[in-house]
Amino acid sequence: MPGGNLGPSVVLAVAHGVSQIHVDRETGTVLAGAGAVADAVDAAVRRTLGRRLPFLPASAAWCTAGGLVANNSAGAGTFGHGATHLWVEALAGVDRTGESFRLARDGTGEGPLARSLRELAARSTFAHLTADRGVDGLLPGWPRVRKNSSGYALDRFLPSTPDRDPNLMEILVGSEGTLAVVTEVRFRTAPIPDARGVLLLRVRDPGELVSLVMELEEAGAVACEMLGRRFLEISGLNWEGPAAPLARDAYALLLVEVEGSREEVATRLDRAQEVGRRHAGEGLRARSAQEADQLWKLRKAASPIIARQASRGLVSTQFIEDSVVPVPMLGRYLEGLDRILREARFDAVVFGHAGDGNIHVNPLVDVESPDWRPRVQRTLEEVANLVAELGGTLAGEHGDGRLRAPFLRRIWGDRLEGAFREVKEVLDPEGILNPGVVIPLPGQDPLDGLAPRPRSHP
Ligand SMILES: Cc1cc2nc3c(=O)[nH]c(=O)nc-3n(C[C@H](O)[C@H](O)[C@H](O)COP(=O)(O)OP(=O)(O)OC[C@H]3O[C@@H](n4cnc5c(N)ncnc54)[C@H](O)[C@@H]3O)c2cc1C
Repeated sequence: MPGGNLGPSVVLAVAHGVSQIHVDRETGTVLAGAGAVADAVDAAVRRTLGRRLPFLPASAAWCTAGGLVANNSAGAGTFGHGATHLWVEALAGVDRTGESFRLARDGTGEGPLARSLRELAARSTFAHLTADRGVDGLLPGWPRVRKNSSGYALDRFLPSTPDRDPNLMEILVGSEGTLAVVTEVRFRTAPIPDARGVLLLRVRDPGELVSLVMELEEAGAVACEMLGRRFLEISGLNWEGPAAPLARDAYALLLVEVEGSREEVATRLDRAQEVGRRHAGEGLRARSAQEADQLWKLRKAASPIIARQASRGLVSTQFIEDSVVPVPMLGRYLEGLDRILREARFDAVVFGHAGDGNIHVNPLVDVESPDWRPRVQRTLEEVANLVAELGGTLAGEHGDGRLRAPFLRRIWGDRLEGAFREVKEVLDPEGILNPGVVIPLPGQDPLDGLAPRPRSHP
């Protein structure tokens, strides 16, 4: 993502040389080299085990196993199946000195990095954080979000109680290459459900969206994806095609997926439809696998549709594209966002993982206008303030990168930001791994390197 992966540094390419894929029939896991492409790993698992990786991102056709781990990536299926971190069984890699390490979910760890991680958890900063966990198990000041790829995962790394061991592997998942380089990942796999069902629901306003996603989780939805009003208008979905009657005058559409046996799918779809009926209507239900694919195509068209706007001189620019807030705050987030974008005179396409409170916002920047940069800067500042106020983070799945690192203290507060800095100081004291990513360098400008330009969609 912009300003995220490439800085003025040495580039370490893992796409070639470490892209092996070995499926293990006995354990039902798959060992992937860091450079293996996510879709290829999934295809091997499907072919060999008749199972799948249910958490993959929309970028699975080109992103790598190492990138999945580095960003704690997530996808539409994360609503029902969680993000990457839940699916990593073991990791191997090299630390900043080139020494190898191996870490596993069962708590075992080899190499100097494993020793450093144990020492890290025992330091007073982290021992106090562990001791101060609330009755709900949350670290003090930790956001109540369903998914997150900002900061370091101290919530998962630190033990649940002071007498337990830390979960060494967890701190690396989502650390964006700032603590170590991953060379190999062992993923767990999930069964392929017998059937799935898809339903499209109309949403009349942000408040209704919150009620819907909360009720749909109870109804057994595994995906709950929002297509915002501008998305519907720009794509023409509000005047053409099967979704048009629902999309006309809607605030948004909600794409809901359920899965299970045929009977379970029918029951869950009935329940989801009933939820819709209690709000803005029963919606459009796919009657076959083909119709379900057609409805998903509407959502998957998001990135290409947005990219095409460049032909109108408007460049989709990702700088507030990945905020996540606690689901009950989602309505307030969308309303605040609307106001900020209006005041900054940005048209924007809004869509994403509403069920998880993670919304993708793509302002269409008129790059010929002389004041686009200060308007982008103000928008970023105001969205950061809004997200901090609502108890969210700026990255649900895309990471902090260099763009969001300067907002770390504002989002996480002094204590947690201090703890993140200490993690970096212990594991990469010379700061050679992705400098300026996650932990900002002194005076780091978030927009340094942001250069909106028409991009080709891979
Ligand atoms: C159109 C589009 C759609 C997207 N959709 C989604 C989505 O649905 N969900 C989602 O979560 N993300 C999405 N993304 C973001 C991104 O593609 C994913 O997070 C992806 O998993 C990143 O993997 P990558 O291999 O592309 O990593 P890169 O972009 O190459 O790297 C990302 C970061 O990880 C670090 N890194 C990469 N490999 C390693 C390694 N082996 N060891 C240590 N650090 C490493 C890099 O240094 C960098 O900081 C999307 C991006 C685009 C452009």
